[in-house]
Order: sequence, then C-alpha cells, then structure tokens
Amino acid sequence: MIHLAPTDRLFVLTGAGVSAESGLPTFRGAGGIWRTHRATDLATPEAFAADPQTVWQFYSWRREVHETCKPNAAHTALAELERRMSGRMYLCTQNVDELHERGGSQRVVHMHGELFRSRCSARCGREPFVDRGVYNALAEVPRCDCGAIIRPHVCWFGETPYFMDEIFRMLEQATVFAVIGSSGVVEPAASFAGMARHRGARTYYLGPEAPANATAFDRWFEGTAAELVPRLFSL
Ligand SMILES: [Zn+2]
Repeated sequence: MIHLAPTDRLFVLTGAGVSAESGLPTFRGAGGIWRTHRATDLATPEAFAADPQTVWQFYSWRREVHETCKPNAAHTALAELERRMSGRMYLCTQNVDELHERGGSQRVVHMHGELFRSRCSARCGREPFVDRGVYNALAEVPRCDCGAIIRPHVCWFGETPYFMDEIFRMLEQATVFAVIGSSGVVEPAASFAGMARHRGARTYYLGPEAPANATAFDRWFEGTAAELVPRLFSL
C-alpha cells in the first residue's frame, strides 16, 4: 500500500505496462511490436522524411488497433484517484494512447505525444490537432495550409519530449512519486525517479518485472497494473 497524507502531492508516471492489459502491444515487453517493426525504421524524423507512407501505415495500424482497446482497471482507478486527490495528483504518461482519458482521467500529460493527434511536419506554427484518420497511401495524407505534409504528433527517437518544463516543476513539488509499468529504459523519464527521490519524495515502482533503474525506488510492487493499481493507494 502507498499511504497518501492530505498534504501529499502525487506524481504518477505511466508507461506501456499500464496499457498492456487493454490489449495494446507494448514496445519492449514480450511480443512487443518493435520485434516485428524496427523502431529505428519507423519512429524517427529521418524515417518520415525518407518514407512517410510506411511511417503513416505504421501509425494508421496503431490507430486501428487502438480503437479495439478499452481502458482497464488501472486506468479507471487512476481516474478515481485523481478525483479523490482534487488537484494534488499529476498524471504524466509515456503512452501515446488515450486509454487514460477513456478511463475518465481529466488531465493527462502526454510527454511523448498522442496517437490521435497530428501536426505539420514543417514548423509553421500550426498547433497539433485531433486526427483519427487512417492513411495507407501517401496521397491520402493531408497537407498543412503551408503545404507541408502532416505527421503524427508523436515524439520520435532523437526528438525532445513535450511539457518538460512543467514536468520538472511538478517533480520538484512531488512528495510521492509512483511509476506504473514503465521499464526505466527510455530517457528522460527513466531519470524522474532519481530526481524526485533526491528532492525527498518517496518513490515506488509497480510492474511485473524489475525496472532497469530499480535502485531509484524505495519499494517495488510486483504485479500487473490492472491487478495492483485499484488497491495500491490509500487516502
Ligand atoms: Zn504547416
């Protein structure tokens, strides 16, 4: 159990493990989609510049898979916790899926972007926009008003994650930091636990396997998110 006092400020970081039980393939776990699609072939700005059609086929496939998935007990428990903590919980996810939102969470910070948003591939200033389109041929991919091709609003390898200033600020304020289903491999998120702990926060990890950054945590809760999250926190 993670006991939360009325003065605690909770920072929750979720990764692919929180969505795995909703049927979404994880990137690094067994059977992950990176086993059949090499990440470096698909999720880089260079790949998109060289072959936008294949990259869009990949993200179109992911959009289609996502439509068949439902939030699980972990997503709904985190939404309930957000309501009960009334402003003292910050939910940051490495996931681009929208299962937290579908589970009822009001405020979700997607540091790696969102599967159902797109943006201009040139930096013309247009904001990312909601896009549920499926584009399997290059001719189907919309163009921005500026003429550039539209790209997924997803943080690719070599790109800087979003909302980092806000995330660092919230890490400084957190008194409790919990990671749910993130392997502790991908930076900068893998460093968050160490940073929060350095600032005095209690740090917890929840997942079926030990994370790569295990030494940054006070305690490891072993199990899956859907099993454990609904009974993990006590207020
Ligand atoms: Zn544009």
